[in-house]
Amino acid sequence: MPVERVILAEPRGFCAGVEKAIKALAWMVRVFEPPVYCYHEIVHNRLVVDQFRTQGVVFVDDVAEVPPGSPLMLSAHGTAPEVVEEARRRGGVVVDAVCPLVTKVHHEVKVRSRKGYTVLYVGHSGHEEAIGTMAVAPDAVRLVETEEDLERLGDLDGAPVALLAQTTLSQDEWQGLMEEAKRRFPDLWLPSRSDLCFATTNRQAALKAIASDADSIVVIGSENSSNTVALEKVAKASGCRRVVRVNSPDELPEDLSGTVGVTAGASAPEAVVEAVVARLAPTTGTVVSSVTTEDEYFPPPPELRELLRAVATALAVTTAAPATSVVDPIGEDRGTSAAELLLAADALPAA
Ligand code: SF4
Repeated sequence: MPVERVILAEPRGFCAGVEKAIKALAWMVRVFEPPVYCYHEIVHNRLVVDQFRTQGVVFVDDVAEVPPGSPLMLSAHGTAPEVVEEARRRGGVVVDAVCPLVTKVHHEVKVRSRKGYTVLYVGHSGHEEAIGTMAVAPDAVRLVETEEDLERLGDLDGAPVALLAQTTLSQDEWQGLMEEAKRRFPDLWLPSRSDLCFATTNRQAALKAIASDADSIVVIGSENSSNTVALEKVAKASGCRRVVRVNSPDELPEDLSGTVGVTAGASAPEAVVEAVVARLAPTTGTVVSSVTTEDEYFPPPPELRELLRAVATALAVTTAAPATSVVDPIGEDRGTSAAELLLAADALPAA
């Protein structure tokens, strides 16, 4: 494969929300005997999900499939309130790994709907995040995917209108609809801080920065990952002649050449990025193009923090260990990356 150079976009790959979710599920696997249940894919990445399967995690799309009393994790994409309630009714430990940025949008839906607003939600029909967010106030929320959807709304009988968004939209998907909604509803309420998350925005900016220098772009991530698909769209919109999305290096086409830009969606492991670059084998090497650094850290979900503290205390009591020798699980969480945990389980492609 005559690839001369690889440009790696930075930031790429795991975001703080995905880090939090993967580490939380890894903690669950350490604390409980299998099976540990997970409602929906913990993050939208096939390799990550398959790896947890080998560790005894059972993924379900209906909490009714979870035997009463079993430990259950709810995914990073956010879960409908009635599903959370039903999960808790089943009596096992329930840990909600929702990303705090998705929780922010749930909160906005709740507050605006209680104030009598019609909430227009720009998102992708059928995506788990959209389903969970719209379920917060189903009578008040209207899904908007296109300008035609906005047109069909009419004037909404003069009711106050708010406009919210799925966190992983691309700026281009959001901008036009936001402007059109503002035109149709001049008193439109918008959150003071955009719903589009920093990780999505940063990865798109990093990709745009390399797109004009690349003969082709490789986007690493799963097809059901909304932010991965958004990266593909950004790469195509930037005019790059060839854009391919792959889950793993074995899906790379054989005919890539010249300069190849590489990025990864927020749920794609760095080990896969390394394996892809190794397969591309650039003859003049790899350069990193960075637009910013991310240092956000989201701590484990509160239910898990309580559980880990209780486990650490119980261990200290049963082993009569001196206080200084007891592992601090919260400190350990901060000091360990999700990539390290996944590599330790040795189930991702080697570079
Ligand atoms: S992409 Fe953004 S919203 Fe989604 S998990 Fe990551 S930080 Fe949270």
